[in-house]
Amino acid sequence: MAFDFSKKFEAFENKVWLASPTMHGEEIEYINEAYKTNWMSTVGENIDEVEKMAAEKSEVQYAVALSCCTAALHLCCKLAGERLYGKPAISHGALEGKRVFCSDMTFDATLNPVVYEGGIPVFIETEKDSWNMDPKALEKAFEMYPEVKLVVCAELYGFPGRIDEIKKICEKHGALLIEDAAEAMGASVDGRQCGSYGDYSAVSYNGNKIITGSAGGCLLTKSLEDANKARKWSTQARENAAWYQHEEVGYNYRMSNVIAGVVRGQYGHLEEHIAQKKAIYERYEKGLEGLPVKMNPITEGTEPNYWLSSLIIDEDAMCKQVRDDSKALYVPEEGKSCPTEILEALESINAEGRPIWKPMHMQPMYRMHECVGTDGSIRCRTNAYIDGGVEDVGTDIFARGVCLPSDNKMTVEEQDRIIEVIRECFE
Ligand SMILES: *Cc1c(COP(=O)(O)O)cnc(C)c1O
Repeated sequence: MAFDFSKKFEAFENKVWLASPTMHGEEIEYINEAYKTNWMSTVGENIDEVEKMAAEKSEVQYAVALSCCTAALHLCCKLAGERLYGKPAISHGALEGKRVFCSDMTFDATLNPVVYEGGIPVFIETEKDSWNMDPKALEKAFEMYPEVKLVVCAELYGFPGRIDEIKKICEKHGALLIEDAAEAMGASVDGRQCGSYGDYSAVSYNGNKIITGSAGGCLLTKSLEDANKARKWSTQARENAAWYQHEEVGYNYRMSNVIAGVVRGQYGHLEEHIAQKKAIYERYEKGLEGLPVKMNPITEGTEPNYWLSSLIIDEDAMCKQVRDDSKALYVPEEGKSCPTEILEALESINAEGRPIWKPMHMQPMYRMHECVGTDGSIRCRTNAYIDGGVEDVGTDIFARGVCLPSDNKMTVEEQDRIIEVIRECFE
């Protein structure tokens, strides 16, 4: 038997989420303050305070509060593009026709902004031991394309790899680094905060992140000039004049002072959230002991924020599983399991899991894009079809990995039942 759906595992009355917002009370007071003082706008004290807190927490000089992290990454791409290639004619297409090295196993929001600016993502294979961008593959990519001057790297699920090494490789090749720390706020590498490694970085306050504003994000930079430029672009690029004067294309990307109230109230609880997430990770680690699975890798010298606990099933403990572009099937097998079975079992008790991010080079949208492997070979979806499946680290982790319910508010009893259900999948 694999997971026995006929056996009665009591379903949770209230769904146990992957990661949902956790409020504390201060948030509503800052929202009320905005309301009472009528700063119901994209200007106000909450925004100023969020920018101070974000810069301080991430150990950078300047933060610019924006409507979301994707907007922050877009402005990062524009700033980097202008610095590298000069100002484009109508102020968009800052990366027009240029290759940009990007993380492969991440949310597509990491690199969509590269495409907004006309750049061509070239994916860098994932490192087996860290689940993050492989520094060796990045070196190979620079050997192949020495003209590339920009790297966009995300930290996966709050468990950083060696972003410091990635930064050094960028410096060696005269390239800039955009660090997508959306999932990694509060995590650190060698005692230095994630978000401080990029020439430009971004953090997210999306509803499921480690702290939230319901939405929102910040662009982080060490340059006052760049911070001011991003702030100007984010407010329709208005020139300093008595009327609406415009010399370049602008965006409506500024954070609302109401949203900023929520973020402001959350910052003081970041460390508490991290401690809760760490406890969840450790309970999974202990509870799943003896099963043919491993939890997300923790890279030496790094301190994760433990945002999403995930597991990977040992190769020889995988039952047969196939996925097309929208559906998955599996064959239950005694003593074995697969992500699809575990996700269905979790769903049957009203708990939310999720597959690992499907690597970008496997996405139909990027099927013609290259993915540079650790050995310098090119792996892409089209190749995989031609020669019957080039195995690469991202494809493998996607096949065998699952994100587990990691909500701060999950009780020990709830987590115990989840662990029991996962154990049952391997019966
Ligand atoms: C959530 C996330 C984003 C996007 O953040 P938003 O604030 O929702 O725009 C970008 N990159 C990664 C890796 C993320 O997890």
